Amino acid sequence: MKRKVYLDYAATTPIRKEVYEEMKLFLKEKFGNPSSIHNFGREVKKAIEEAREKIAKAIGAESDEIIFTSGGTESNNMAIKGVAFALSHKGRHIITSQIEHHAVLEPCHFLEKIGFEITYLPVDKEGYVDPDDLKKAIRKDTILISIMHANNEIGTIEPIREISNIAKEHDIYFHTDAVQTVGHIPVNVNDLGVDLLSLSAHKFYGPKGIGALYIRKGTRIEPIIHGGSQENNKRAGTENVAGIIGMGKALELAISEMEREQKRLTELRDYFINQVEKRIPEVYLNGPRVNRLPNNINFSFAQIEGETLLLHLDLEGIAVSTGSACSSKSLEPSHVLSAIKLPAKLAQGSIRFTIGLYTQKEDLDYTIKVLENTIEKLRSISPDRQEWRMSRTE
Ligand SMILES: *Cc1c(COP(=O)(O)O)cnc(C)c1O
Repeated sequence: MKRKVYLDYAATTPIRKEVYEEMKLFLKEKFGNPSSIHNFGREVKKAIEEAREKIAKAIGAESDEIIFTSGGTESNNMAIKGVAFALSHKGRHIITSQIEHHAVLEPCHFLEKIGFEITYLPVDKEGYVDPDDLKKAIRKDTILISIMHANNEIGTIEPIREISNIAKEHDIYFHTDAVQTVGHIPVNVNDLGVDLLSLSAHKFYGPKGIGALYIRKGTRIEPIIHGGSQENNKRAGTENVAGIIGMGKALELAISEMEREQKRLTELRDYFINQVEKRIPEVYLNGPRVNRLPNNINFSFAQIEGETLLLHLDLEGIAVSTGSACSSKSLEPSHVLSAIKLPAKLAQGSIRFTIGLYTQKEDLDYTIKVLENTIEKLRSISPDRQEWRMSRTE
């Protein structure tokens, strides 16, 4: 019997029933504009502030340090461009890494076009930034360091505390893209020592199109969206009310279940990794074996074209992604796999499996079985294999 197996939780997660139920009220009955003074507005305003409080509490912040945005992409843009514009008189140098999400890399590319200089730190073969490289890259005119908490493709959890200590010693703002970690592993802005932190609701079973930026009190940042006094004058526009309510509820639920879910997913992840390595020859795990996101598995299969494998799995009801979903239209190997210096051939044969709330062991057993069969079939007709056979018979 064909199953439907969703293994792309890092791309997005389904919204939880409890979240949807809370949101419904604010899409229909409670429709007031939170900026309005009358009762319709006030009750909505109150609900927004409650959600803000929940979110702040979940990451160890104060309510007035949370700014709602349209998601992880906007939060990253706001952090990077906002600090760049606020501090351009002080300096025009920013440090980030080669494996950031495009929502960090592209704002950096944009800033390069208007006169900023960006250093893109390399990573080692497991995807780690070396704090010593960071130390060497710091200059007198460095105004911001942005290093992601965990990588969305290969699951590497970066040494954020060490990095933030270095930033602090040099009195440089530090931003982290925590979109893959908030709601999944412990995230506390003080333990991490960050000044700015991005999060996004649809990565923790909340709705799409809503996120937040944590901005530590006193951090200088210029708004990037102008037109109203909402969000403490930092982000104009009538609030995405239902989204905000949904995000608050989703994070509250995620935090309450985090410890148990983190343990369950880590076990499932390691089970999947072990089974695949045992049953399929010539597979290579990308990213580290420990200190890795509990939900992330990324394998390269020799002599396999990732896109072809993805389509075969899709026919069997299994949803995975190659590299990063955002770059799946390009044929270039993913920038993350290039940065860990994975040979191009293996990068082409890489697949990301990300598990989540509704993943059961049976789903993984089914996936492993289908993988085993499909890879054997694809390899038997792979041109690489034929070349290899011919060279043996000569
Ligand atoms: C998904 C993701 C983003 C983008 O978030 P959106 O809410 O989809 O804009 C940014 N960074 C990372 C690491 C992500 O995984």
